[in-house]
Amino acid sequence: MTDRKMHIPYASVEEMHREIQNEIRVKFEEVYCSNWFIQGEELKKFEEEFASYCDSSFCVGCGNGLDALMLILKAYGIGTGDEVILPSNTFIATALAVIYTGAVPVFTEPDLLDYTIDAHKIEEKITAKTKAVIAVHLYGQPADMDAVLAITKKYGLKLIEDAAQAHGAFYRGRKTGSLADAAGFSFYPGKNLGALGDGGAVVTNDQNLADKVRALGNYGSDYKYHHIYKGNNSRLDELQAAFLRIKLSKLDFWNEKRREIAELYLDRIKNPQVTLPYIREDCESVYHIFAIRCQERDSLEKYLNKRGIGTNKHYPIPMHLQKAFLELGFQRGDFPIAEEISSTELSIPLYYGMTKRQAEYVAECINSFSV
Ligand SMILES: *Cc1c(COP(=O)(O)O)cnc(C)c1O
Repeated sequence: MTDRKMHIPYASVEEMHREIQNEIRVKFEEVYCSNWFIQGEELKKFEEEFASYCDSSFCVGCGNGLDALMLILKAYGIGTGDEVILPSNTFIATALAVIYTGAVPVFTEPDLLDYTIDAHKIEEKITAKTKAVIAVHLYGQPADMDAVLAITKKYGLKLIEDAAQAHGAFYRGRKTGSLADAAGFSFYPGKNLGALGDGGAVVTNDQNLADKVRALGNYGSDYKYHHIYKGNNSRLDELQAAFLRIKLSKLDFWNEKRREIAELYLDRIKNPQVTLPYIREDCESVYHIFAIRCQERDSLEKYLNKRGIGTNKHYPIPMHLQKAFLELGFQRGDFPIAEEISSTELSIPLYYGMTKRQAEYVAECINSFSV
């Protein structure tokens, strides 16, 4: 155990951005001088490159990850009177995307082992109103998509990936973004692939869906001043698309470096009070978040913070207990597994540029914790 205290933030984009600053500046200049800022060549190229990266046919840029999910649902005609099933342990955007279409979010339990949606508990939530299931690739690990797909197929439901945390992850040799009817991605700056501002994308093999999402995100317009839907304004601008192209070319390398830190943690953290993430054998996680669990989570968090280690919780309140969703009428105890995860989960530092020594220090501090 080292006696020297280190300062390790929970996350940082500093090193990533230091390494690409010249490329970013050149690109900025190029787009700036083109005088074209919305729906131009950079977006077109990024969409082609990202679709190809996801082993999918189509990508449509949009304003953010929330809109990506909402536009998919709207394009499938999901709205008032419909229900969409999603896990209770997710970021609020997954649920809000459903609510903004007029449909009702129906929460279900995650699996306590891998924290993604429990396929065995979906069927009991299906009603005559159910139209779709959203599976969230939580913390960077794909949900068990084949198991979920077996159910959505049986009932004729759409299956949508919330891939906001899993750019570049694999499930049974297949990339996220190609695992369901459609996928929503976020390029929020903190995601594995992040813009220098907000951004998002829909990825799909379904050309009709891609066309409809594109129109819906552009005022419902199929061509200029011709509006076939009551659409939104949700577009990925030229600057962000240009920056994302630079970052996409480094994403696999950055994900690989994240994986090295994660593997060090998996190897070095040996505290019987701490549960490490479980990565299924058929999956390759991109470790958007390194989530450990501990019954004494709050004391462990204080202990690490005191030693200069930044932490986070994903997420401290499950969706069914959020004040914003009070009208859905849930109470504590309704989703015990989601509640167990939210009260014990702690996210520890993991970012590109983190050194081996820093990760070792984090592991040592966790190992020296006891109650
Ligand atoms: C970040 C995130 C979103 C929303 O993305 P935004 O770009 O912030 O709108 C949706 N779902 C999950 C699981 C996320 O982590």
